[in-house]
Amino acid sequence: MHFNILTIFPEMFPGTLAGGVVGRALDRGVWSYKVINIRDFAINNYGSVDDEQFGGGVGMVMRPDVLGAALDSIENPGQIIYFSPRGPTLTQKMVRNFAENSENKTFTLLCGRYEGIDQRVIDMYNIMELSIGDYILSGGEIAAQVFVDSAVRLVDNVLGGGVDATANESFEIGGLEWPLYTRPSVWRGQSVPEVLLSGHHGNIERWRKEQSDAITKERRPDLLKEK
Ligand code: SAH
Repeated sequence: MHFNILTIFPEMFPGTLAGGVVGRALDRGVWSYKVINIRDFAINNYGSVDDEQFGGGVGMVMRPDVLGAALDSIENPGQIIYFSPRGPTLTQKMVRNFAENSENKTFTLLCGRYEGIDQRVIDMYNIMELSIGDYILSGGEIAAQVFVDSAVRLVDNVLGGGVDATANESFEIGGLEWPLYTRPSVWRGQSVPEVLLSGHHGNIERWRKEQSDAITKERRPDLLKEK
């Protein structure tokens, strides 16, 4: 899996992606990335990449000539994604699709800043817009890291623990995860639910399913409708 990342803040990468299982996978060569500094394609020596919005209004827009040149510099862009609140919201199901047959896949991730990017770039390069939630970030870099992290952890052998490690998760099980407990079995007078100490796998599975259903019904009934 390879990611081309277009940003005016190259120092923000790999950022959070350097840590944990995703960082180890980067060291092992499971995935790779190349940062393209959009400023390298600026229209002048001041490094301008943005301009005022046609039609008036506050805020600057990233220029199409700059972004076009930056995109054209990439030999194999693969699927191009622009992070934007206007796109569909990323879900685990979508992440699964992106990560499928990941070995030879390339994604080009365009991180917006200011008010966003000129519409003609989105149209010309057939770019997919993708949101990470209904709120406004100051830039697409965090969204790009969310995208890479969620996709890479689904690649085989990135997580220890085999297939179960990615399958036994909220959203993957048709709802939210059951409550988790570890040692000590009694902490500040509070015991772990008896059934989890019983060693009876059937009962444990039933309890987890009940807990998962109850918590999903209470917090995210929309997920039950999706099933
Ligand atoms: N004017 C835009 C918001 C611009 S925020 C609007 O109203 O839709 C600046 C940049 O941050 C965007 O270009 C985008 O790349 C990124 N961004 C902001 N919120 C985001 C979100 N929820 N998901 C993904 N990217 C986001």
